Amino acid sequence: MSTRRAPVVAIDGPSGSGKSTLARGLATRLGFIHIDTGAMYRVVGLRAAEVGVGIRDDEALGRLCDRLAIRFDRRDGQVRVLEGGRDVTDDIRRPEVSRLASDVSTNPSVRRALVEMQRAMGCEGGVVLDGRDIGTVVFPDAEVKIYLDAEVDERARRRTAELAERGTPEDPRATLAAMIERDRQDSTRSEAPLRPAPDAVHFDSTRLDADTVLARAIELVRRFTDS
Ligand code: C5P
Repeated sequence: MSTRRAPVVAIDGPSGSGKSTLARGLATRLGFIHIDTGAMYRVVGLRAAEVGVGIRDDEALGRLCDRLAIRFDRRDGQVRVLEGGRDVTDDIRRPEVSRLASDVSTNPSVRRALVEMQRAMGCEGGVVLDGRDIGTVVFPDAEVKIYLDAEVDERARRRTAELAERGTPEDPRATLAAMIERDRQDSTRSEAPLRPAPDAVHFDSTRLDADTVLARAIELVRRFTDS
């Protein structure tokens, strides 16, 4: 029996399925804290490249994670990602960091360290976490679990639009190829592969707009909080 004062909402799914948008929307509407766990793996990938730690050097990556101080800070209505006081929000969104994050996330020491941080951040409840292993590994007892998916062409189209909007456009074919490769790596790795929790509610956002997905998710959470 959980002793949390408020629910944990777990959102898992592949990149570009709309997890972050949904998690942000839910957190705002419910007054919960949003923990973007993908951003945390991105920080590890970024820092590993900056200090020259190899993406397969499990031990050195574990030590790097122990030294990290990752924080989510709300500034002017926006959530910024800080590492040791440095604002890395923009750096971690670069396409090469997406790949680095997926690479370092296959290491057991990285997963252990980040799962521990995520549990500490969310243990009181009143949180929405989005990632790949939230409902299966980080909070298998989460009160609400959503698995959000969409067809890969649509996910790649969204990522291409997002990169263009950020002022860092990329060839759509390269974005699609990188996404297919990242999906493959994330779902076939031995450590916490991407897969739906058996008790997750599935949403397919291919033909649903963000507001409809949000409305359905709010209904799910309310069903829990009103019962
Ligand atoms: O969600 P986002 O695309 O920012 O995640 C970047 C990478 O971090 C993913 O491709 C995945 O390899 C890894 N990740 C993970 N577990 C999570 C969240 C992200 O392995 N809970």
